[in-house]
Amino acid sequence: MSDSQQDLFSQSMTELAAGLDAGDFTSAELTETLLERIGAHDDKLNAFITVTADEALQSAARADEARASGRGGVLNGLPVLHKDIFCTRGVKTTCGSRMLDNFVAPYDATVVEKLAGAGAVVLGKTNMDEFAMGSSNETSYFGPVRNPWNLECSPGGSSGGSAAAVAARLAPAATGTDTGGSIRQPAALTGTVGIKPTYGRVSRYGMIAFASSLDQAGVITRTAEDAARLLGVMAGFDERDSTSIDEPVPDYIAGLDRPIKGLRVGIVRQHFDAGLDADCAVSIREAIAVLESLGATTVEVDLPNLDLSVPTYYVVAPAECSSNLSRFDGVRFGHRADEAEDLMDLYCRSRGEGFGDEVKRRIMTGTYVLSAGYYDAYYLKAQQVRHLIADDFRSAFADVDVIAGPTSPTPAFRLGDKIDDPITMYLNDIYTIGANLAGLPGMSIPCGFVNGLPVGLHLVAAHFAEETLLRCSHQFQQHTDWHKACPKDFA
Ligand code: GLN
Repeated sequence: MSDSQQDLFSQSMTELAAGLDAGDFTSAELTETLLERIGAHDDKLNAFITVTADEALQSAARADEARASGRGGVLNGLPVLHKDIFCTRGVKTTCGSRMLDNFVAPYDATVVEKLAGAGAVVLGKTNMDEFAMGSSNETSYFGPVRNPWNLECSPGGSSGGSAAAVAARLAPAATGTDTGGSIRQPAALTGTVGIKPTYGRVSRYGMIAFASSLDQAGVITRTAEDAARLLGVMAGFDERDSTSIDEPVPDYIAGLDRPIKGLRVGIVRQHFDAGLDADCAVSIREAIAVLESLGATTVEVDLPNLDLSVPTYYVVAPAECSSNLSRFDGVRFGHRADEAEDLMDLYCRSRGEGFGDEVKRRIMTGTYVLSAGYYDAYYLKAQQVRHLIADDFRSAFADVDVIAGPTSPTPAFRLGDKIDDPITMYLNDIYTIGANLAGLPGMSIPCGFVNGLPVGLHLVAAHFAEETLLRCSHQFQQHTDWHKACPKDFA
C-alpha cells in the first residue's frame, strides 16, 4: 500500500473524489481500507448494526469499471453509510428495534436509490435509537453507541451510529434523519457536520416513519463541502412522497465560495439563558466572532416561544408515532410472539416484546393525547403553539439571513447519566426542535472543545435556504480547524 493510501480514511469525500479521478487509488482499495478500519475499531464504538462488506466490494468493483470506461455518477466509488432507518433492498433494516430485527427490506428508500444511482458505495447500516426516539443512542435494541472522543460518553442520538462512525474516520459520510435534532445534536456531540434540510426537500419514501410532519433526511460529514455534495444528490421531488416539494435543486457546491460579507446573523436572546453550559457559551460566542471577522453583521432577535418547543414537540411527535407504529402488529412483518391465544393476544405480545421502554412511553403518550376528550386540550393546543413558534421564526427571518447559536446545551454527557430521567433527556433538544416544528433547514458544525469534548454551532435559515447554511459553514471551515481534529484513539 502506498503512502497516499495509508491515510485514505482521514480524507474528505471531496479529497477522495479527486484521488479517484487522478487514479491515485481505486474504489476497491478505498473500500477495503475502510472495511478493515471498521473491523478494527467498531468493537469499541458499536456504531454499526450491519456491515455490508460483500455488497460494498461488489459496488466498488462496478464503480471502478464504470470509471475505466469513462462513465460513473458524481459519487462514483465514494463510500457512505446509511442510518438503519432507511430501507435497503435485500439488507436487514432494523430501525434500532427488536421489532424489525428480522426485517429484510424488499425495496430501497429513495435516498438509498439516489446515492447508489450516483455511484456511492454503501459500507453498512448504522446504529440508532429505537425508531429514532432518543438523544443518546441508549434506546437502541443493539446497545448504545460510544462517543469516539470519550468512550464513556454518548455520541448523542438518534443518528449516533452515523455520527460516531464519521467522527472516528470509519467513513467520510453517513445519512441520518432528524425529527427533533437527531442529525444536528449527534453531529455537535461528535465534532462532525450535520444538516437537516427543509421539510419536503428530501424524500421520506422508504425512511421508516417516526413523526411524519417532522421527519426529514439529511447527512453527517466532516466538511460542509461534502454535505453540499451529498445533499445535491439526495434532494429533489419524489412522487412517492406526497410531502416532497417540487422545487429545483440548486447547485449547492457552486455557491460555497461566495464570501459571507454582509450576511445578517441573528443572535437569539433566549439562547444564552441559564440552560446553556457556560463554557459552551464561550465557544459559541467565539464562533460568532469568526463569522463577524468574515464580514457578517450580527443582529439580536427574539424567539419568545422557544421554551414551548420541547413540550409542543412531545405532544405532536408521540401523537404521530402512535399512529405510525400501529403498523407493527406481528402479522405482516417484523417480530411475532411465539405463543398467542388469539389475535388480540398476538398483537399485545408481539408489540410488548418487540418495542423497548422509550417507544412504549411515546406510544402511550401519543394515544392519550389523541383520545376523545383530550384531543382539543393537548393535540390541538400543541398545533396552535406550533404555529406561534413558526411565526416567531418568520419574524426573525425578516431581519436576518441565518440564526446562529448552540446546537446542544452541553457537550457529550456520560452514558447512563440521563437515561432514567426522560425530561432532562428531552431538554437536550431545546435548540434544535424549533426548526423541525417550523419545517426549517438547520445545520451543526464543529466550533470548539470543552474538556476535550466537541461543541457544535447551530445555524438555521429560512425555508429552502440550505445554500446559505452550507456557504456560511464552508466559509467558517475555511478559516477554522475544528473539523480537522481527530479523536486520538482513531487517528
Ligand atoms: N431526541 C428527540 C426525540 O427523542 C429527537 C429525535 C429525532 O430527531 N429523531 O424524539
